[in-house]
Amino acid sequence: MIEQQPPPEYKINPWKVEFASAETETRYRGHTANTSARYLIRVLYGWILLVATFSYVDYFYNGFGRAFLLSVAGRALVIVIMVLSIYALNKRPSWAANGAAITPLLLFCVMLYPGLYFITPDEWTAWIAAIAMILIVIQYVQVPNRFLYSLAIGLLSAVLNLACLYAVSRPGLTHMLSLLLAFGLPVYAGSTISYRLHMLHRREFEALERAQKENERRKQLEATLKRQAETDPLTGLYNRRRYEELFEQAMAVARATGQPLAVCIIDLDHFKYINDTYGHAAGDLALSHIATVCRRELRESDIVGRLGGEEFLVVLPATSAEDAATVLNRLRTKIEADIIEAAEQSFQLTATFGVTELQPGDKALSDLLVRADKALYRGKHRGRNQVFAYDTRGGKETTTEARKTTT
Ligand code: GH3
Ligand code: MG
Ligand code: MG
Repeated sequence: MIEQQPPPEYKINPWKVEFASAETETRYRGHTANTSARYLIRVLYGWILLVATFSYVDYFYNGFGRAFLLSVAGRALVIVIMVLSIYALNKRPSWAANGAAITPLLLFCVMLYPGLYFITPDEWTAWIAAIAMILIVIQYVQVPNRFLYSLAIGLLSAVLNLACLYAVSRPGLTHMLSLLLAFGLPVYAGSTISYRLHMLHRREFEALERAQKENERRKQLEATLKRQAETDPLTGLYNRRRYEELFEQAMAVARATGQPLAVCIIDLDHFKYINDTYGHAAGDLALSHIATVCRRELRESDIVGRLGGEEFLVVLPATSAEDAATVLNRLRTKIEADIIEAAEQSFQLTATFGVTELQPGDKALSDLLVRADKALYRGKHRGRNQVFAYDTRGGKETTTEARKTTT
């Protein structure tokens, strides 16, 4: 299998075992801070218990004497520092991930521990050295520190233990070399484990972030596709598929609640003239301008679609034809007043509105569109730039304000 190169922001510096990009590393630490802090706090509680329990060994072997008191004082100090660390980690979880809190604590323990060689009987020396080796591995695995800090602590601990061992038992060269190898082993084992853990956690983080980004990209793509499938590209208004769907829903609500439902066709006046005089591009601009005005002036719940060409559809839920005529007349005056700035010239537009209302016998939008179209035709016939509505109940025709077109 070919291993893919990670993108630059996820490149890992192989010496530090951290992301080469400072931003990514900061994000990673932010992401792991809480988990690391919680884990470290649990580890510290465990160690408080262990450090306290082990004082029985001091008593068992030393009795109540100077050595016992010294070691108890040392243990008490370590416990106090651990308690303070728990408090600090609760307040600042980020300290668990960046080594700020834990490295000084580890340093302190590393310095303190070899003191045991000097206050305990000689026959304990081998034990103390063996435990020191275990502790070196433990600090690599249990303490969520930065890799280089863990390595430094491991090395320092090995060196200090070796120095103290030399000071207390003055071993020969061969023995010293064996001890050196023996202490090299936990440093090596701990470093390789820690190296691998750091690598794995960062790769995991990379996978997580990339999956999140991919998810985000897909969601955006889905939204774009949905928009494209539902809207007309020029005006951004609902296309036939979508406005028919929305009309069905609005009709179902109107039937269920007994509320009225108005439908209107807007047809721009003398639009052919606009195209012929100012050009097709200016015509397109005018169409998207009208769409914007419609969306701005009408309610959020009104459905605005493009029927085709220079004809628009408006569905007004919970509105009678009469009320719709009033609302649409306001829209008509806005359209009439607006100046459309095309590339070189500016011009004005008017529109004629044909309105109707849902009637008991209506089955589909097409039934209402037939009546709206009739109303529109009458409006055009009577001079354009007006709202013409059918009074739905009596079959009586009414029109609101009529005006001469300005084009
Ligand atoms: P009336 O007042 O009777 O409605 O006159 P009109 O010129 O608007 O009527 P007609 O239906 O004859 O003309 C509509 C014109 O709309 C024809 C076509 O050039 C133009 N048109 C249709 N779709 C588009 C479009 O997508 N972009 C542009 N720029 N023009 C379009
Ligand atoms: Mg037309
Ligand atoms: Mg027209």
